[in-house]
Amino acid sequence: MPVDYQKLAVEGVQGLSPYEPGKPIDELARELGLDPGGIVKLASNENPLGPSDKALTAIRDALPELGRYPDGNAFVLKRALSAYYGLNESRLTLGNGSNDVLEIIARCFAGPGDEVVFSQYAFAVYPLATKAIGATGVQVPAVDWGHDLNAMADAVTGRTRLIFVANPNNPTGTMHSAEAIEAFLARVPERVLVVLDEAYCEYMDGEGNPDGLALLSRFPNLIVTRTFSKAWGLAALRVGYSVSSPEIADILNRVRQPFNVDSLAQVAAAAVLDDKDYLERSRRVNREGMAQLEEGFRKLGLEWIPSSGNFLAVDVGNHAAAVNQSLLAQGVIVRPVGGYGMPRHLRISIGLPEENRRCLDALDQALNGQASGA
Ligand SMILES: *Cc1c(COP(=O)(O)O)cnc(C)c1O
Repeated sequence: MPVDYQKLAVEGVQGLSPYEPGKPIDELARELGLDPGGIVKLASNENPLGPSDKALTAIRDALPELGRYPDGNAFVLKRALSAYYGLNESRLTLGNGSNDVLEIIARCFAGPGDEVVFSQYAFAVYPLATKAIGATGVQVPAVDWGHDLNAMADAVTGRTRLIFVANPNNPTGTMHSAEAIEAFLARVPERVLVVLDEAYCEYMDGEGNPDGLALLSRFPNLIVTRTFSKAWGLAALRVGYSVSSPEIADILNRVRQPFNVDSLAQVAAAAVLDDKDYLERSRRVNREGMAQLEEGFRKLGLEWIPSSGNFLAVDVGNHAAAVNQSLLAQGVIVRPVGGYGMPRHLRISIGLPEENRRCLDALDQALNGQASGA
């Protein structure tokens, strides 16, 4: 009898389906025989400006040292983050993307028999990381597409070890106020860790915005995760981090692979923190691009979920899969979110003005068989 190696995988892993990323530009170009330069990708919440010049210069300067291992303690990047936020370096844990940190947290604090709470329509990595470690995911129904924080606090049992909260959430863009997050944390027992995933926090540039870091001193069970992949424009380099109590960071750093953030990522991330102008441009492009897409959706008679991130989930009706196929055929890549239980929506990342226009024209073509010229 041949061995069934799939049956040898640990139980949680057997039930996993892999994360479905946005389609890469080159893949669609190969499939359609198109010029990659003519394809618009608004599928992965990337920064449409491309990387900051400061990051690129830092990378060039670091190239001659590629034969060496990176600094496993990331001295330069930790010092830069600590200066940027005014916090102690002992609170930081770096990851190969914040995705890495989310998985490290799950592995450190939950296992078979434990419960991990997250919301319906929340970021797909939470259920994945939970299943992979053999823990039990508890999905709490959303309200108006957003987390029902009260119901999530109510879902805590004696077995709950971890709660994931994305603020703003991906793929819905919904956000909770600083007061709501604080009231939620006040309801969660201190033995339950709360991961506040703030991957899009840099886009919330208004007054009184939620800021997990401001809550750390009052809630020792809080872990805030952030990333350089979104507003900071370094998605390809895979670098993110968590801020927590030094005690929790010490645990996370025991499980972290010693060289999980490569040298180029470290220097580029440290350099971009210095590029205030880049962040301001990123926010402006996002604000204006979001207004452009919303105006286009309005003209097309489409409804969308108001978003605090760099993307919009738009309701394109019962035939979202066909609309997505039509967009692909027109060289526009967006993200179907049927896998999130949102079969009527497409998630569209905010692009440059011309990319947004291409996307709106393609949507018009897909829905009405004509280009809007908007
Ligand atoms: C994009 C995203 C992340 C992770 O991004 P990394 O590239 O792994 O840092 C984490 N959480 C949410 C909600 C995201 O949308």
